[in-house]
Amino acid sequence: MKAQDHAVYDVIISGAGPVGLFLAGELALANCSVLILEKADNPHSPLKQFPFGMRGLSTPTIEALYRRGLLDELAVHKRLKTPHFNSPSVQGKPQPGGHFAGIQFNSTQIDTSQWTHRLPGATDAPFLMSEMAEMETVLARHAETLGVTIRRGLAVTEFQQNEEGVTVHTDGQSFTGKWLVGCDGSRSVVRKLGGFEFAGTEPEFTGYSTKVEIADPGKLGTGRIVTPTGMYLLSQADYVIIQDFDGGAFHNSQQPITREHVQEVLRRISNTDVTINALHIATTWTDRSRQATSYRNGRVLLAGDAAHIHSPLGGQGLNLGLGDAMNLGWKLAATIQQKAPEGLLNSYFTERYPIGAQVLDWSRAQVAIMRPNAAARALHAIIRDLLHTRDGATYFAGRIWGINNHYNNPGGGQPLTGHSVPNFEFEDGTKIGRHMHDGKGILLDLTMNASLKKLAGEYGGQIKYVSAKVKEQLGLHVVLIRPDGIIAWAADTDADTSELQKAAAKWFA
Ligand SMILES: Cc1cc2nc3c(=O)[nH]c(=O)nc-3n(C[C@H](O)[C@H](O)[C@H](O)COP(=O)(O)OP(=O)(O)OC[C@H]3O[C@@H](n4cnc5c(N)ncnc54)[C@H](O)[C@@H]3O)c2cc1C
Repeated sequence: MKAQDHAVYDVIISGAGPVGLFLAGELALANCSVLILEKADNPHSPLKQFPFGMRGLSTPTIEALYRRGLLDELAVHKRLKTPHFNSPSVQGKPQPGGHFAGIQFNSTQIDTSQWTHRLPGATDAPFLMSEMAEMETVLARHAETLGVTIRRGLAVTEFQQNEEGVTVHTDGQSFTGKWLVGCDGSRSVVRKLGGFEFAGTEPEFTGYSTKVEIADPGKLGTGRIVTPTGMYLLSQADYVIIQDFDGGAFHNSQQPITREHVQEVLRRISNTDVTINALHIATTWTDRSRQATSYRNGRVLLAGDAAHIHSPLGGQGLNLGLGDAMNLGWKLAATIQQKAPEGLLNSYFTERYPIGAQVLDWSRAQVAIMRPNAAARALHAIIRDLLHTRDGATYFAGRIWGINNHYNNPGGGQPLTGHSVPNFEFEDGTKIGRHMHDGKGILLDLTMNASLKKLAGEYGGQIKYVSAKVKEQLGLHVVLIRPDGIIAWAADTDADTSELQKAAAKWFA
């Protein structure tokens, strides 16, 4: 007989990866009770640590962490003496900006003046590297401080839902929540049991991340090398990433990854007779690209890799998942607390699905020009030329760093609607991001119009009124900011309060 936890949680989350942890923090910030069930006993794994666990954080992710006061807790951020964004080169050396299909660009090539809505220094860098282990530690601590319960060593195996809630089962216990969110990664049990369609394309390659001892590393090139048969990258002298266009056969076979096998693949891809003396750690991945065709079924939702998978080329999956969590948290909390206007929760899917689909296509486009054939090589050369132009590098950086991410603004209005709010700096030196730690909406009044204060007060504490002069106003007078930092409405003249009220009623009850 199963032990029953008698508490009824507002939300049960399956999976304490970065997305589940960040979502839990967002829900708890809005006073929801949250239980996370995590399959693994131990959160520590070498695959989450340097170098395997290094992840590139895009601008929206950096902003999300900053807006919740978490960015400064990442040691990598403290270590960063010269942020890329303000310092395109360090001691005369251009800083790497990222890559598309292995083609590198650097930050000196980027024309930041094209990003007119971005205030310099909004976050210190547009792209940072972070370690998964550290990120999860910071997010778990934040969630637990806010009252989230994390139970490790309990895998979700089954659930049933009805109109009131969801009963979630693990091997020995069952739990009740009003909602269940599957943040349980690419092989999500919640997605599989929840009847979600997972549509997409099959893999073209097996990717390898390995820690090895190489007898003769001088035989390999340095940096990311795209060859006629695949790609390889040797870094830290013993960390090798390989991409082998085998249709994903090796990964799918689930065979053990041996030293002999990795050596054979590396020799073939690099066209050398390099020798691997020892294989210490190895994992494989593919470019299989799939996305759930709905992120909600009744009281069950999906976020992160549970909702979408794609190749890690260009490092986008974590960023995409954290974006889901930032978008979903306040909407689900408002729904639970009956403060949500009609359709708020459904906007999670309508906003996040297109962003996910774009990322899947971005990774497919990279695979397409890395294929081992003449047509792909020709395209690769053209993209390389484009990427080394100023406009090309700016376009690719805008996509890779997520600077251009925004939600569609079907209502028209001020063009910044649907974009992340610029990090306005007040005259006392504080910035708008620092006002977002509590996860509330903000009515930012840059014209000191007292009547707007009354309007903000009509939303039961969901909207804070902030009125002050800013150093750079970007032509804006009034900005309504959602809890996730997205501009819900903005005016570049004196506010038409009926329009503002309409916009506020769309997002807040
Ligand atoms: C080689 C590689 C490099 C990458 N580089 C980048 C990068 O630079 N930038 C980037 O943005 N992304 C990158 N990614 C992708 C990124 O790591 C993932 O998108 C991200 O980890 C997804 O987070 P998640 O929380 O959704 O899922 P996960 O990190 O997979 O976490 C899911 C959690 O759920 C748990 N779980 C699974 N099943 C159950 C169950 N039944 N019950 C309870 N718990 C369960 C798991 O144990 C795990 O803790 C990379 C991926 C790979 C493979």
